[in-house]
Amino acid sequence: MSAEFPMFALSEEHQAVRAAVRDLCDAKVAPYAADVDEHARYPQEAADALLAADFHAPHVPEQYGGAGADALATVIVIEEVARACASSSLIPAVNKLGSLPVQLAGSEGLKQRYLTRLAAGEGGFSYCLSEPDAGSDAAGMKTRAVRDGDDFVLNGVKRWITNAGVSEYYTVMAVTDPERRSRGISAFVVEKSDAGVSFGAPERKLGIKGSPTREVYLDNVRIPADRMIGAEGTGFEIAMRTLDHTRVTIAAQAVGIAQGALDYALGYAQERQQFGKPIADFQGLQFLLADMGMKVETARQMTYAAAGKSERGDSDLTFFGAAAKCFASDVAMEVTTNAVQVLGGYGFTRDYPVERMMRDAKITQIYEGTNQVQRIVMARQLLSGVQSQL
Ligand SMILES: Cc1cc2nc3c(=O)[nH]c(=O)nc-3n(C[C@H](O)[C@H](O)[C@H](O)COP(=O)(O)OP(=O)(O)OC[C@H]3O[C@@H](n4cnc5c(N)ncnc54)[C@H](O)[C@@H]3O)c2cc1C
Repeated sequence: MSAEFPMFALSEEHQAVRAAVRDLCDAKVAPYAADVDEHARYPQEAADALLAADFHAPHVPEQYGGAGADALATVIVIEEVARACASSSLIPAVNKLGSLPVQLAGSEGLKQRYLTRLAAGEGGFSYCLSEPDAGSDAAGMKTRAVRDGDDFVLNGVKRWITNAGVSEYYTVMAVTDPERRSRGISAFVVEKSDAGVSFGAPERKLGIKGSPTREVYLDNVRIPADRMIGAEGTGFEIAMRTLDHTRVTIAAQAVGIAQGALDYALGYAQERQQFGKPIADFQGLQFLLADMGMKVETARQMTYAAAGKSERGDSDLTFFGAAAKCFASDVAMEVTTNAVQVLGGYGFTRDYPVERMMRDAKITQIYEGTNQVQRIVMARQLLSGVQSQL
């Protein structure tokens, strides 16, 4: 019976993944979340705990020494970590974002070399697409990769790179043929230890303060040509194909942040007394809580459906990845803002976690393509006749 309804119920294995990650986060991630935010410091405790439990890059296939988690299990890991600490959830999320180009399009040699190291915890992976003057219009990038014998030489600046400086490995999109715009972009693996790689100062951010965001400088970085991912000129297509899959992980991050805020608000509403009774007794507040719960569940269902499409590689993944990310991030912003409302003045202070969650939620509407860009992507898919394959 259950095999006939695979989309609408989690398997026992997926439920077990959730339980294991939640236990780990309750013990080793949540207790540090406020301190990580307050001091804008790397969540080392979470990084260590996730690595020890093999949740740091769960998507890496078993053949490369990884946990071999499918797209839905990976989403559940990210959601549960984000429920405790959004900054920490960027460890598994960005390890997938950075390494997926290798997994999707890299040579067997690149996969053996880099996915095994990622799985073994020898180094994280970052994704370098954005530049100071190329954000939504990523194809307008200026970073150049010029062939020189058996090597390529890279020059340029990548901006807003999550985990820059912490990661050992970087997927870098660079222009190999300036005449061909998006078809003149190629993808490469650059290592932190390559001569000419350096990093800017950490950005001072509104939220996800524990997740380092820095510029990456490429100054005559010479790398062997076999570090190119896929064929020359396919880097932009690989970058976009990667985002189709990883936008689902940002949707999961958003669902997790929203769930964390809802959980806290529910507990608080039952404790806090005004007018001689718990504020949860007031219907005005009940309706707010009901809407929060309804929207979190809707976002979760959409995220899991998109994860199924990611795993199967369905032709409507581009629409679903964008829709899930856009919807779930808008829900996260609304639900975390309303959680602050439920706590009243206390919610506005750093003594309670919901203001951190509200600040953290904001980034999910911006990165991996702003929600305006997601709407452009969705509209293009709809207008080109892509049908949902539910
Ligand atoms: C904390 C953080 C972490 C990040 N991590 C990474 C990372 O690891 N790797 C990476 O490559 N990038 C990363 N980014 C970059 C992120 O993806 C970009 O910031 C994002 O794509 C938007 O680009 P932009 O900031 O240049 O904004 P812009 O493109 O300048 O956009 C500004 C505004 O204009 C709107 N806009 C732009 N074009 C259109 C249009 N055609 N129609 C309607 N509205 C439009 C946007 O929606 C936005 O509201 C990160 C960013 C942040 C802040």
